[in-house]
Amino acid sequence: MKKQVAIIGSGPSGICAAIYLVRGGISPVIFEKGMPGGKLPLTYKISNYPGFKEIIGADLALQMMDQLSELNVKIEYDNVKEVIKENDKFKLITEYGEYFFDAVLIASGTQDRKLNIPGEDKFYGHGVSNCAVCDGSFFKGKPMALIGGGNSSLEEALYLTTITDKVYIIHRREEFRADPILVDRIKDNSMIILKTPYVPVEIKGENSVSSLRLQNVNTKEEEEIEVNAIFSYIGADPNTSFVEDKIKDEKGYIITNKNMETAIEGIFACGDCTQKELRQIVTAVGDGAIAATSILKYLQK
Ligand code: NAP
Repeated sequence: MKKQVAIIGSGPSGICAAIYLVRGGISPVIFEKGMPGGKLPLTYKISNYPGFKEIIGADLALQMMDQLSELNVKIEYDNVKEVIKENDKFKLITEYGEYFFDAVLIASGTQDRKLNIPGEDKFYGHGVSNCAVCDGSFFKGKPMALIGGGNSSLEEALYLTTITDKVYIIHRREEFRADPILVDRIKDNSMIILKTPYVPVEIKGENSVSSLRLQNVNTKEEEEIEVNAIFSYIGADPNTSFVEDKIKDEKGYIITNKNMETAIEGIFACGDCTQKELRQIVTAVGDGAIAATSILKYLQK
């Protein structure tokens, strides 16, 4: 009987692994608990993926999904709760059922962190969000703020300047973690106001967001800025709660070797959920290709 492989997650790394597995004669099943494409469709423009000088994240995601459907890769829209090794098989316990596979590839990505400040929960989904591309247009022409000094915050700030003319970036340090090219772009953009070193302390409003209270990290002085939407990009944690602790580091990232093998034979991992330095689309797809190649070798044993 043909060997069965599960891929948990349909971001770029999971998709690339699926393509390589199909080429190797395997028909993998992808498990996806949310929207296909991982963070790709939530990203404005991508300008560091070879072959595309610039491409909208959702467009690249659609092209990848199109490639998957041409290869007839099956996607189960289901949430994996547990992966249990039983002899030489793996049992996947999901929200809707139980499945058995010969190998499992974890490509479950990361989940955005919350600010944990007053007002966040009250307005989440109504002016507070982790996705400027998804929700920014609801606040067209209104002042908005992004929190964080990484690539995501700065890229999405540039997106917001296409729909409004006043965008604050709140960052807790003077130096930015984002790539220098992005830092130059936001500094050159007259619609972007940098508030550094500041942290958000409270989101205020009656029925909708009307302002954000900030605190200067050095002086501890507080001020309030008028904004109608707040997008938080303060990093992410791995989506690995269903994975055994023995293959994770202290932060929950999955530990693999250079072949994307974990310490449990038959379980592989790739992409943002793994312990690595550089989390980008280009490294995710590279991981996916390596993982699939290792899985094919493993299944031949
Ligand atoms: P990130 O790089 O981890 O940046 C998070 C930012 O939030 C940092 O500036 C951090 O400040 C700040 N922060 C963290 N906790 C905070 C808190 N409690 N309060 C206030 N600020 C806080 O996250 P990301 O921008 O989402 O990126 C995630 C990964 O995806 C990165 O590896 C990134 O390079 C990659 N990515 C790449 C691209 C691209 O290549 N085009 C685009 C998007 C994302 P500190 O700097 O002080 O720690």
